[in-house]
Amino acid sequence: MVEKIIPFPLDYLFVGVHPDDVELSASGILLRCISQGKKVGILDLTQGELGSRGTAETRKIESQNASALMGLHARINLGMKDGFFEINEINHKKIIEVLRAWTPRAVLANAISDRHPDHGRAAKLIHDACFLSGLVKINTQDSLGNEQLPWRPKQLYHYIQDYLLKPDILVDVTEFFPKKMEVVKTYKTQFFNPEEKGPETPISSKEFLDSIEGKARAFGRYIGVQYAEGLVASRPIGIEDLDHLF
Ligand SMILES: [Zn+2]
Repeated sequence: MVEKIIPFPLDYLFVGVHPDDVELSASGILLRCISQGKKVGILDLTQGELGSRGTAETRKIESQNASALMGLHARINLGMKDGFFEINEINHKKIIEVLRAWTPRAVLANAISDRHPDHGRAAKLIHDACFLSGLVKINTQDSLGNEQLPWRPKQLYHYIQDYLLKPDILVDVTEFFPKKMEVVKTYKTQFFNPEEKGPETPISSKEFLDSIEGKARAFGRYIGVQYAEGLVASRPIGIEDLDHLF
């Protein structure tokens, strides 16, 4: 499956190796960005076709429903091989083509290390692609065959998934948390849904959804709010004014 990449300037690009990664781990931040009028897109690397429940087709419909609920401005799936994609030139260039077409200021990508090995491998692939995308001598074309200009996002963050990594930044998502859980539940085949008859998986139980809330509450407690999502920064964060922090 090859989708056409329509050039569209974004503020933030969220990248997930599986079509529900962003929704589970960073959709509170995403909803906050959209509420501020920012242009936001999601890049899915695979269709999640190895998931024990659902199919590539049902997951596509679920991700379209999630996109509509979030009010997302752009979303594309690169159709890499779930479980077996490699860190190589072909996959770097697929991501570079999206970065150059959508020119995001910041990228939020998978966790650097996690229970699912795809997450850490995707984090490395995306990290390298963000750097390589800024190099003038790497040539890529847009969907019309025109040469693309180099583009390197200013910031790359990694959202926190299963493993409780130590966050560098915590974002208050209290206002957006109820909607985040609505968005997560659009993935009807993946997460707890009493009407769905499929094999029990580590993410299909009610306890898993409870753990998403528990993690957000624990992160929120660190900064004195009800719910927060955490990010790991790929380099030290620079600020102009200490008052911007709380
Ligand atoms: Zn995943």
